[in-house]
Amino acid sequence: MTTLDISIQALEHNIDIIRELAGRSQIIAVLKGNAYGLGLCRFAAFLEKRGIRHFAVTELSDAIALRDNNIEGEILLLTPIHDAESITLAIKNGITMSVTSYENGKVIEQTAGYLNHFFAHVHMCIDTGFGRYGFLYNDEPEVKGRCIEEITDISQNMHHIHVTGIYSHFHAACSKNECSVRNQFDLFEELCGSLEDDGVLVGMKHISSSTSLVRFPDMNLDAVRIGSAFLGRLAVENPYDFANVCKLSAAVDDIYELPAGHNVGYGTGFRLAKATRTAVVSAGYFHGLGMTRETNYRRPSFLGMLRLCKHACINKKTTATFDGRSMPVLGQINMNSCILDASRVKIAVGDQVSFPINPLFVNSSVPRVYC
Ligand SMILES: *Cc1c(COP(=O)(O)O)cnc(C)c1O
Repeated sequence: MTTLDISIQALEHNIDIIRELAGRSQIIAVLKGNAYGLGLCRFAAFLEKRGIRHFAVTELSDAIALRDNNIEGEILLLTPIHDAESITLAIKNGITMSVTSYENGKVIEQTAGYLNHFFAHVHMCIDTGFGRYGFLYNDEPEVKGRCIEEITDISQNMHHIHVTGIYSHFHAACSKNECSVRNQFDLFEELCGSLEDDGVLVGMKHISSSTSLVRFPDMNLDAVRIGSAFLGRLAVENPYDFANVCKLSAAVDDIYELPAGHNVGYGTGFRLAKATRTAVVSAGYFHGLGMTRETNYRRPSFLGMLRLCKHACINKKTTATFDGRSMPVLGQINMNSCILDASRVKIAVGDQVSFPINPLFVNSSVPRVYC
């Protein structure tokens, strides 16, 4: 059977590092994308057992699934909802909504008003430069004024809304240049300060996520929103020794002795240079093998083009390991299988090999095994 094996020990190691870096700030576990592939409800329960009390998701259905699975902590929905039916569901399930605009606040107030004896718990979402969700807040005095006015109105005059938090999100926390991060942080602090000076209660303040937790612990504020650090997959150098938490485990289906010159896999591009012992294993791109994320968002520069060329020419081969030995994939990866060079490894049908993997790319029907 092919499984995504998740190491409890490695996860606990990473949680310890995150706790240390977070200090007195709360940890909000971000569980979008099926908890980055670790399994939404399973991973949430794992974290709650270890004292994490705040969670964040991007889908209302995920938030409700967590409640249905007895997660008791605060669940923050990071995306806005605008229709009365969804808002009602969120309120009745005790889910904290993000308010991203004045209009959004109004429809939540109205909906909560219809539901006697219910309050809507919300965090105010601020766009300090990301360009995605939230009330715009930038260097323009007019924009600042409008933002403060609208949030004050929601907080003080919409009586069915309880503002329990306020947050923003960095757009370039991994950039070498710290300028934009500092600028966003300063804007956010200024806004929170202005609101507090006006007597507006904003609750828990948060802006930082995994990369900024590692690089700028001075920006932790009341809470940090953490996703990738749990998996030890940081977009920056890893000075704190975060551990890799998962691997894909697959069985050897068959072993063959193929002659020199024999074709391997789809296409005509791969022939064996010499007689080779091959192992066919049940792991393919369906299981996330060979999948990478498109991150080509930079303006093409000369150096960038060179790097792309290098990447295309010296494509790092996917490699399996067995008993501490590595076995490169031969030819192309198929949907459900691939072929390994097993010439130098003592391996038999039924043995399990493992691959390094980004769990986000592992189809959610592949069993997650916490071990
Ligand atoms: C994804 C996300 C996070 C978590 O980011 P990581 O870098 O994975 O820790 C935090 N906040 C928001 C708004 C997000 O979308």
